[in-house]
Parts: sequence; structure tokens; C-alpha cells
Amino acid sequence: MQSVERSVAAAISEIRARIVSAARAANRDPASIKLIAVSKTRTAEDIRQVAALHVSDFGENYVAEALPKIDALADAGLTWHFIGAIQSNKTRDIATRFQWVHTVDRERIAKRLSDQRPHSSAPLDVLLQVNVDREPQKAGASEERLAELVAYVMALPRLRLRGLMAIPRESADRTVQRDAFRRLASAFERVRPPGLDTWDTLSMGMTADFEIAIPEGATMIRLGTAIFGARAAE
Ligand SMILES: *Cc1c(COP(=O)(O)O)cnc(C)c1O
Repeated sequence: MQSVERSVAAAISEIRARIVSAARAANRDPASIKLIAVSKTRTAEDIRQVAALHVSDFGENYVAEALPKIDALADAGLTWHFIGAIQSNKTRDIATRFQWVHTVDRERIAKRLSDQRPHSSAPLDVLLQVNVDREPQKAGASEERLAELVAYVMALPRLRLRGLMAIPRESADRTVQRDAFRRLASAFERVRPPGLDTWDTLSMGMTADFEIAIPEGATMIRLGTAIFGARAAE
């Protein structure tokens, strides 16, 4: 793990300013966009520093790495988002220790998370990951399978279905990138379950592209590098 080298306070205020201007330019309320600080490879102390700047939501990709940090920060009242690939032998820890999961892409995993969510906790908030660029090696449900997956997950008693998430293919071409966000946003409307008032979240946009995800309707952006600086090779 590496230490946070530059001033996170300066980074966070710069990010907040960029969110506000991207939102205003798109005629959106900046308060409708939640910042998720992606803290993979960072220490609990790094996270505490960011949490002190009124950032309450953190995203982790690896269960084994996340659990000791969640324990160390149990007093801080943070909200934890699981944003990594889900292995079936990790669903119990995810269902028990996280409040949100962004990466549900198949029925079997959804069922396990619902079965394993403790009754002492609120239902687990869930996003379905969509493979918007049809990349064969990438996680995510295809757009064709999405409606079916939505219907299945909605019926699971211990999950609360909130919306969609994607990680588009990286592209230097802003138009290509923006088009991927637009496809996710239109899938979000197309599969919106009638009468499901919790269908309110579109998780898209990272350090390189959050300012183009915001005009396409992102309600959660997931930033790592912009907050903590560059990661060492993972
Ligand atoms: C690492 C990661 C991020 C953050 O990426 P940055 O480019 O550092 O902002 C966001 N989302 C997911 C799913 C990630 O794995």
C-alpha cells in the first residue's frame, strides 16, 4: 500500500468544483451526483483523511483487502460500496459488510447475496453491471439480458434494486466515451421497472471521464486517482 502523497484536501475541493461546473453546464443539480471515493490499494489512514473532508462513500474492489479497512473504520460511519468482480465464495462477506454492490451481473450471484444478507441489516442496495461495449473479456450483463435480470433481482427479498453501472472501454475519443454513457443511460430508462421508486442510480464515470458522464445522467461517479493520486501497479 502507498501513502497519499499530495494534499487530498486540495484534490477533493478541485473535484467538487469540477462536479459543480459539469452539473451546471448540464442543467443538473450538483447535489444529485454522489462522489464515491475508490480506495483500493489505500490504507485505512488514507481513507480516514478523506472521510474527514465529508466524503462518506468508499468503493473497494477486493473483499480480502476491504474487510480489515472496514473494521478499522467501523467508528467512522462510512458507506461501503463493492465495485469489483464478485466471486461466489465471497458473497457472504459482501452481503454482510457492504451497503452497496455495483457489480451484480448474473442471477446466481444475486440470489446468493439476497440469501446471505443478514436480517439485522437493511436490504442490500444493488446495481446491475452492464457490458455496454460488448467486450468479451469484461464482466457485465448484455443489454439484451438486462430486462430479464432486472425482473429477477427485483423479486429477491433482501436486495433493493437501485439501477445500473458500467465501465466503458477506455477511449481517447470523447465522443466514443460519451456514446457509451449515453447507451447506459438509455438502457436505464428502457428497463426501468414500472412503479419501482428505488430505481434512481446510474453509476458511471471515473477519473478520466466523469465530466462527460455527468451530462449523460450519472448519479454516482467513482473516483480513485483524482482523489488519492496514481496507484502503483495492481
Ligand atoms: C479502480 C476503479 C475506479 C476508479 O478509477 P480511477 O481511474 O482511479 O478513478 C472506478 N470504478 C471501478 C470499478 C474501479 O475498479
